Amino acid sequence: MKQLALTPLSPGTKTQVRVPGSKSYTNRALLLAALTDGSVNLLGPLVSDDTHAMMSCLRSLGIEISQVDDRITVHGYIGDIKPQSYVLDVNLSGTSLRFLLALACVIPGEQIIQGSEGLHKRPIGDLVAALRQVGADITYIGKEGFPPLRVGSSRLTSGTINLSGGESSQYLSAVLMIAPQIGELEVSLTDELNSRPYVDMTIAAMKAFGVDVTAETGRYSVGSGQQYHCTDYAIEGDASGAAYFFAIAALTSSTVTVNNITASSVQGDLAILGMLEQMGSSVVYNDDSITVRGVGVRPLSVAMEDCPDQAQTMAVLAAFAEGDSVISGVQSLRIKETERLQALQQELAKMGIKTDSTVDTLTVHGGTPEPAAIVTYDDHRMAMAFAVAGSHLSGMTIADPGVVTKSFPSFWNELASCGVGVTEILPNIVLIGMRDTGKTTVARLLAQRLGRNFVDVDEQLVATSGSSTAEIVQKHGWDYFRTQETASALRLSNMQNAVIATGGGIVTRPENMAALAQNSTIVYMRATVNTLAQRRFHDGKDRPSLTEEATPEAEITKVLAERSTAYTAAANLIIDTDNLMPEQIADQLALLAPLDLQPTRQHCVIIGDPVSHSLSPTMHMAGYNALQIEANFSFTACRVLLDQLHTFVGAMRSCTIRGASCTAPHKQGIIALLDMVEPVAAKIGAVNTVVNENGILTGYNTDWIGVVNALEEVRPLKGLQVSLIGAGGAGRAAAYGLNQAGAIVTIYNRTLSKAEALAQECGGIAKSLDDLSAIANADVIVNATSVGFIGSDESVLPASLFRPTQLVLDAVYTSEPTHFARDAAASGATVLDGRAMLLHQGIAQFAIFTGQPAPVEAMRTALYQPKETP
Ligand code: NAP
Repeated sequence: MKQLALTPLSPGTKTQVRVPGSKSYTNRALLLAALTDGSVNLLGPLVSDDTHAMMSCLRSLGIEISQVDDRITVHGYIGDIKPQSYVLDVNLSGTSLRFLLALACVIPGEQIIQGSEGLHKRPIGDLVAALRQVGADITYIGKEGFPPLRVGSSRLTSGTINLSGGESSQYLSAVLMIAPQIGELEVSLTDELNSRPYVDMTIAAMKAFGVDVTAETGRYSVGSGQQYHCTDYAIEGDASGAAYFFAIAALTSSTVTVNNITASSVQGDLAILGMLEQMGSSVVYNDDSITVRGVGVRPLSVAMEDCPDQAQTMAVLAAFAEGDSVISGVQSLRIKETERLQALQQELAKMGIKTDSTVDTLTVHGGTPEPAAIVTYDDHRMAMAFAVAGSHLSGMTIADPGVVTKSFPSFWNELASCGVGVTEILPNIVLIGMRDTGKTTVARLLAQRLGRNFVDVDEQLVATSGSSTAEIVQKHGWDYFRTQETASALRLSNMQNAVIATGGGIVTRPENMAALAQNSTIVYMRATVNTLAQRRFHDGKDRPSLTEEATPEAEITKVLAERSTAYTAAANLIIDTDNLMPEQIADQLALLAPLDLQPTRQHCVIIGDPVSHSLSPTMHMAGYNALQIEANFSFTACRVLLDQLHTFVGAMRSCTIRGASCTAPHKQGIIALLDMVEPVAAKIGAVNTVVNENGILTGYNTDWIGVVNALEEVRPLKGLQVSLIGAGGAGRAAAYGLNQAGAIVTIYNRTLSKAEALAQECGGIAKSLDDLSAIANADVIVNATSVGFIGSDESVLPASLFRPTQLVLDAVYTSEPTHFARDAAASGATVLDGRAMLLHQGIAQFAIFTGQPAPVEAMRTALYQPKETP
């Protein structure tokens, strides 16, 4: 798992930051824009996982949203939503879930609203009960009181809603925002409102969109006859994000100005400014920015009801304030992304800080915290709050830093631009193996290629003692030498980002390998006795003898027999070096060693460029877990550039990589480098699966199975008219598969000659992309072009060609529905996205790699409910 090391800010630093648009305002504005008839521009919005979730669900409903630079335009409106069934998946976004639940009650059709597993543990009963009071038809699909939910097309009536405000202010916000669709609405709170400033933000946003809310104590009303109107809505900077930088100013006695937030904001998290003043800082409210001048921190008692998201920040500051701080109003933290209070206490305890908690309070016994390796519990606020500690205390590390994408994707960059050192901790690469395998030469070359530090354990010992290894052994004996080696291994285990060459005997003491394994990828450079003897002959170095054997061959044979089990057991990766030059070994390891390879596994990889977006590792690992073979197999993504394919195939042979899933741009190029190609793949002319059986590399194609099985899960293809667009790698596989399945295929391609050649080879007729009108009559449409892939929001077809009766497959997968898929869904067609094809080609690939039938449902679940990633 990725980890960042932080280096403190120099005290007295003066710096400025710009924070992203407010998450709360962005998600409110997206909803309000969807309730507004006419296009609305949102200026300076936050683009993060949470706002993506909201946009993605609105798009699934057919509401068109585009994004250009710092502006999101919501073109569509709920009046355009067609009465049909929708599945709205909000992933981990609680705000989106609550707002969309309310929206779902005032739009046509039936909606299933769901999210990630973690979100399904967060209660929603009070909001459901409130909406039911005005006629909402909502049912729980699983556990009573929790998502997922089914909402039937409801006709809500004017009236009064009694709502509990204690659990989440978002319930009240959600109900208020849909009020103009209902008529006259009054909300009466049955208990104290939690996080009131968030409701003030809702009211302010509604006002900007032309709707007034009357707020009295415990009672909110929206008069009838009001409608939302707005053209441009500027979103102010996010106070929650700004708060971390204000806290850094206080803790590090520095001056930080946040540029896009002002005193006029009603965002509740600005309450932290008053708290920092209590701790000794001074705050200056400028016309267009806010500045905090810090002087360190002192203990305090604060109530966090109105800004619970900053409770973690205050707890971290309190850890540095000598004495007891009492932080109250923290009850709502118990239903957030994680049990935040418990997580906070655990991580503060790692820093040597004692805490006590009651249901609603946290007492921090502040003092002198020690640096710690912080884990973040999938919670963006844990990462950012503890980063504040790292701005002041040397030695802090933060695990899984990508969690910040939920609300502040550029957080680490902003932190670095402020002057806090932010560096990624990379595991060391440790080369082990017999004397004369070339560990030192390769380690030096590898360190150069990766831009890392080079360390040689033997060279270190020689430098420290001033004697050669032979002299050390002669003078003090092997036992002394091994003890020195152990001390060295322990020291090196604290290093980062290094390539380390070890002495051949390092594995003779298990404690050495245990120490090095803590933060290293261990590579065993394997060689046969013959190779080692040859190298020994050419080397001629002064090395102490290891045995009493008469010849080098006899000595190598004996020692290798003693150690080979230990070498193999310790290794994350084994490379056979017999026929390789040191440069080739270094090239191959430079490609593979940075991967997250687990010891004693058969390694499978997906190769391509780009490849980091790929869902294949998630899907295959889920399959391994379901079959309980995760101790035998690993699956990682490996970026292989076009000119590195040769090196990768070499590495696949010498490191015995079991399987490679090939994606663009390698599907055709890899064929020439393989030993065998299965006839179907040869006919298609592309390989997406390579398996290594005892050193023989065979290529297969499972993409065609992906296309056919994904479509046939919905309806049989025999006799159907299929319009296939694209004649590249995916198009060729699809053409082959569709013809095999008995479909009547028309192939459209930008380059007509390629479509013609493909139709000749696999069957069907070819047409140019200029002649699309017949597509409207197709039963099935398959997009196998790359149009709509990451970075482009284009569609290869005009929206007018889709029909509600059609089955549509888009081979392209991006984290949000593509333009092509959105148009198809809006027409009422049945739409499958790239995951459907990926799943079915992956099922076939899984069986080829593991020799076992794939656990289909586990792999499907992993693809359709991906965990939030960095
Ligand atoms: P490829 O071999 O490079 O072929 C690209 C195809 O797209 C060609 O037919 C090309 O037409 C066409 N094309 C590119 N730009 C175009 C444009 N602006 N207008 C019209 N047509 C255009 O790529 P590939 O390997 O077939 O992959 C295609 C897509 O399928 C990729 O997005 C890939 O990720 C996806 N895919 C998904 C899966 C899955 O499991 N979901 C599996 C395989 C592939 P020309 O022939 O005229 O250049």
